[in-house]
Amino acid sequence: MVDFHCHLDLYPDHAGAIARRERDRVFTLTMTTTPKAFPRNKELTDRTTYVRAALGLHPQLVADRARELTLWKDYLPSTRYIGEVGLDAGRQYYRSFDEQKRVFGDILAACAEARDKILSVHSVRCAKVVLDMIDARLPVGTGRVVLHWFTGSASEARRAAEMGCYFSINAAMLRNERSAALVATLPRDRILTETDGPFTDGVSGNDGPADVRPARDGLAKLLGTGREEMDGILTGNLREVLS
Ligand code: MN
Repeated sequence: MVDFHCHLDLYPDHAGAIARRERDRVFTLTMTTTPKAFPRNKELTDRTTYVRAALGLHPQLVADRARELTLWKDYLPSTRYIGEVGLDAGRQYYRSFDEQKRVFGDILAACAEARDKILSVHSVRCAKVVLDMIDARLPVGTGRVVLHWFTGSASEARRAAEMGCYFSINAAMLRNERSAALVATLPRDRILTETDGPFTDGVSGNDGPADVRPARDGLAKLLGTGREEMDGILTGNLREVLS
């Protein structure tokens, strides 16, 4: 199973959550929200087979943490995985939107220069701006983007797919009628599953397979595949993203 976007370091037992994901062979990309959290995440996942830690600077924290961009750049050479990064134009964060754009622009440019990074990207209420920035700063072939919890329009999703982006889908998206309708239009070779735990309902962090299964089962139902067929699709897509 695949959980391409979660926050294991925000669960009470961080090390235990990693150990259980490893035991149950759930391929897990665990985010950090600030670069300061990265070294501990990196240390705990240095010798794991299924769990990887991503280096992030969450757009919702940019207002307070923009200065940590220097630290983010210091850690960049030590990982292939970047996240959570992106933009959030929600009312609560809109005041920092210009600063978010500056930080995300720098992050994209640094990833393009470093090459071969895999990014998990947040794009709340600003899919167009996020895609414009990726288009301008991370040329095709210099990195891979996985759009996390994408809520843009169908035409924006089409544009993202044409740009080579992947989409990580969680169970909450599939429970939402509008969002599920959008997911149904995505190319099957671009979908992955995620939990975004602990920020989604019904995700305990204690049982990786149980946490990811609703997204996998929901996708199988929505797209009319069997569960095993869906596992094959997701594993194949994971292999492509990591290749
Ligand atoms: Mn997240």
